[in-house]
Amino acid sequence: MCNFICYFVEFCSFFCHKGGRGLSKSRTGNPLQNTRHHLIPSSRIFLCLKNSMMYRNTKVVRRDFHEAWHTIFGNMTPIEVAEFIVRLSPVGYFKKVIMEAHLWNFTYLVDLQTFEQQYSFEDLRDTKKVAWQKLFANKEWFWVVVEIIESWSPSGYFTRVELTAKDSGNNHVYTLSL
Ligand SMILES: [Zn+2]
Repeated sequence: MCNFICYFVEFCSFFCHKGGRGLSKSRTGNPLQNTRHHLIPSSRIFLCLKNSMMYRNTKVVRRDFHEAWHTIFGNMTPIEVAEFIVRLSPVGYFKKVIMEAHLWNFTYLVDLQTFEQQYSFEDLRDTKKVAWQKLFANKEWFWVVVEIIESWSPSGYFTRVELTAKDSGNNHVYTLSL
């Protein structure tokens, strides 16, 4: 029964969210204006659980950056975004990727053993490429993933991370354990 209510409420919140996003994207909006971004997208949260969020879920983001974010990542959750970026990076760039996130009683684990590239940056639509440039400029893949973990997720959401990557001669290592 609770599940049914949750699904129903999530269904409704999806439409509310659409409406809200439409408003905040008004064409007259100043691109330099601050807007409120939900780190875990509203459309991905069961409303009946919203009041029990154990951490702060919003971040103030300038409108142009905010729109760039959703242009690329839509309503992905932070761990989905991080995984997407790893799968967008060139084959063999990342050597080890373990990421674990918690949301209420759910655990999300990304443990990649093989590193075939699944998405190609070149195949992204031009609007997405422009948005990527706006958000990350020429930042390396490794540091983009670290930025997602440190700046685009609620604190306490990622509970375990082990990342290693190697570019021309440089080794990068990032670990997090809560
Ligand atoms: Zn947002």
